[in-house]
Parts: sequence; structure tokens; C-alpha cells
Amino acid sequence: MPFRDEEDRPKEECGILGVYAPEQDAARVAFFGLFALQHRGQESTGIAVSDGSCVRMHKDMGLVANVFNEQILNTLPGHLAVGHNRYSTMGASVLRNAQPVYCQSLVGEIAVAHNGNLINARELRGELQDEGEQLDTTSDSELIARILVRHLQDGPEAAVREVMRRAKGAYSCTVLTPKAVIGFRDPLGIRPLTVGRMGETGYFMASESCAFGPVGATPDHELKPGEMAIIDASGLRLVQGAEAPRRAMCLFEFIYFARPDSRMYGELLYAVRERMGQQLAREHPADADIVVPVPDSGIPAALGFSEVSGLPYREGMIKSRYIHRTFISPDQRLRELGVKMKLTPLEEHIRGQRLVLVDDSIVRGTTTKKIVGLLFEAGAKEVHVRITAPPIRFPCFYGIDMASKGELAAAVMSLDELSNHVGATSLGFLSIEGAVAAAGQSKNDFCLACFNGDYPLAIPPDMSKHAFDEPPGMGQMAAVTHGQPRLLEPVE
Ligand code: SF4
Repeated sequence: MPFRDEEDRPKEECGILGVYAPEQDAARVAFFGLFALQHRGQESTGIAVSDGSCVRMHKDMGLVANVFNEQILNTLPGHLAVGHNRYSTMGASVLRNAQPVYCQSLVGEIAVAHNGNLINARELRGELQDEGEQLDTTSDSELIARILVRHLQDGPEAAVREVMRRAKGAYSCTVLTPKAVIGFRDPLGIRPLTVGRMGETGYFMASESCAFGPVGATPDHELKPGEMAIIDASGLRLVQGAEAPRRAMCLFEFIYFARPDSRMYGELLYAVRERMGQQLAREHPADADIVVPVPDSGIPAALGFSEVSGLPYREGMIKSRYIHRTFISPDQRLRELGVKMKLTPLEEHIRGQRLVLVDDSIVRGTTTKKIVGLLFEAGAKEVHVRITAPPIRFPCFYGIDMASKGELAAAVMSLDELSNHVGATSLGFLSIEGAVAAAGQSKNDFCLACFNGDYPLAIPPDMSKHAFDEPPGMGQMAAVTHGQPRLLEPVE
């Protein structure tokens, strides 16, 4: 088993992109775009390309830099592409469920990359099977692909409208057909997707604007909820595919998932997180000496906290930036070191100090407890924990892997109990109102369900993350180079 980050943060969902590059090698653009989206999913990655007539694809378990090399990219010629980084949120983490999903249709081959979770996946799966579809995977993304292939002969608008009519839940998708690249967002816009120009004749779309710079593209337009972008030889067309009752972007994108150099709702997330830290200092001041971030995600908020509180900002720990990139499994002794493998305290900064420790979220509380312990071990006198996410009390069904309700620390403990549990001197969470205001929006612009239980789309009572777990024996298969499978070691 590869080294797994032992943190209990909410796990990012997936990163997707689409490339229309008449003058470039689309696979290479997709590679560098996926590289910039690596934080959104580290379990599998894939690129599908078209040269105008034929779709080719390669996908495998692992990081972008491990899966692709020159030789593989050279087998993917074409000027159109879609790409995907996956963290599994529905369907087991096996190669069969890696994306893009490939399907054949009357208009030719297609490949689909999906970010999000369908909440009616079980029901939709049954309906499609009753209608005669043979499904190859256990992932809900294939359901979207199957609906598309059945309707593409009526045009991309009609096919996407059909997806929006039948699929319920969170979905941002990019779709490759032999001659076009299509992107669309669900009618609540829970997951992000942005489109923009690339050079004189090209277009690029991606989950986050941070992927545009590395490929020389400019983010122009965040797709609206229920909107689709169709890019082909005649250019870019934006079409509203379904009525959007409101917008409900995931607030966690602003707090933690997305890179701080990305923009969402037009706001730079670094600035949003600084404002969250400022507001946290107003809501939960602390009698302390210095403000210390949990690197890297806590840095902008710690700077904001420092600014409003007047307490000096100091780094208290150094993060090993590359530990998550190793696929060497630590032995038992090393595994027991846990967070120490990743964070080294700077004793000279900490010893004898009363710290404000700023982090983005608490899920089970296990990581926070370890970090607080590490800081006391390094000589801290007090550790006042301040968290920029409001308390997480409800599970997410829209594509974020957190934990079941019983495992969510803030759902089963009072604030005092949780503070004792993590060993903090004091504990404070940013309010929902404070987080939303820092994001520069109003409450109705966000999904806040994991904080307040108000799900913007009602969740079927029997819905389970594991509804489509792999039947026995499906966990091993070949890496997929479309047309040329090659064997690899068991992946789980
Ligand atoms: S429930 Fe929470 S993590 Fe899930 S989409 Fe809503 S805000 Fe995001």
C-alpha cells in the first residue's frame, strides 16, 4: 500500500479539465493542467484526446507525474483533450473507476471527466440497466456518460439537458467528443468549473483558475449553475441547460479545497482566507504571544488573525512538502510517528510561548490532537486552537469524503469536550456568518450542509457512499491505455 497521508481532513474530490488547442499538443497541455490540479485528487489520473476522428486515452492509479511520461504522451496525439485527477468519493478506489470514462456513441467515441457525486445514483443506475445499458464500472460518472451517448446524435445541448434532467446531485463535467469539448455544471453549481482563452485560437477549462497560468490560458468565465460551454471549430458557445433555482457552491472550496491562488465567485481565495482569519480574531480573541499556522493551508488565515489581533505571526512548524509523493510504505515504527513524519516543530520559535494555532478544519480531531501534542512537546506554554471552518456536524453527500456523522468530532462532542479531546488550552471556530461574509457573498450563495444540515438538494434516506462498492474480484485490472492495456500490480 502506498504511503497515505494520515490526516483526517476532508478529502478533496476531483479535478477536471478540457482543452481545445488547434495549434498545440492537447495531451501536453492537459498534463500540465492536471499537474496544477493535483491537490484535488491523488489516487488516479487520466487524459483522453481526440485528433478530430479518433479518441485515445490513458489512465492509471497514481499521481500525474508517476502516470504520464514522454513516451505515453507521444501515444496521445490530438488537439482536443479532457483530463481528470481522482479522489474516490463514490465507487471504490480501483482502476476500473479511474477517469475519464470512455463510451461509444452514434456520433463516435466520447470520454467524460466528472467532479462531484450524484445523490440519485442508485436509482439512476437501476433505470439505465432497465433501459438496457450494460455498465462497466461502479462509478456514478459512468451514468452521466451513458446518458450523454444516448442523446448526442441530437446535439450536445440536447444531450447535456438530458443529463441535467435525470442526474441529481453535484456534477461539474468535461466531455470529449471527436470534434468538440463540452463543459457543464449542475443546476446548483456545487462544484466549480471555469472556461477561458488559450492563445489566439484555443480554449481551456478547469475546476480551478490556478490551472490556467501554467498552460498559458486566461480564465474568463466561471460557468453559471446549469450552464454549459461547447467548444468546437466554430468557437465557444455558452448555453443555459437547466433552470438554476439558486447557486450553492461548496463553502469548503473557499476554506480549504481549492488552491489559494484560485478565484471563485471572482474572489481570490488567498484574500478570502486572510479575511476568515481576521474575522476569527474578532470572534475568538486569545490572550497569547504569537500566531502560528498549520502549514500550508492555515497560513493566510494566520496572517489575517495576526493583523487584527496585533500578535506577531511566526512559523511554528515546517512541513515536509514531498512526503505525500512517495509510494514507499512506512514500516510500523515509522507509521507510529504519524504527524511527525510530516511536520517538524521549530522549538526556538515555540518554547515558553503562548500560541494561537490557526488551522482550516477539524473532522475527527485526531490530527489536531497530534499537532497540539507536538507543540506542547516542543515547549509551548499554551495552545489556543482557532479554526476557519465552522464546526462540521453533518456528512457531505456531494463529493467530499469526510466521515459519517458519528465520526465527526463536532457532531458528538460539545465545544469544551472537543477542546479537551484535542488537548487545547482553548478552542474557537469561525461562525457560518463570519465565513460567508469573508467570502464576500451571502448565505444563499453556498452549500453549508455539513455545517448546518441544510442540504440544498434533499438526500435520499438510504444513500450511502458505499452503495456501489466493488463486488469481490473487481479490484484488480490493467492500466488503461485505450486499445493497449498493460498489466500492473494489484492496486489495493
Ligand atoms: S456539504 Fe459541506 S463539503 Fe459538502 S458540498 Fe456542502 S459545503 Fe461542501
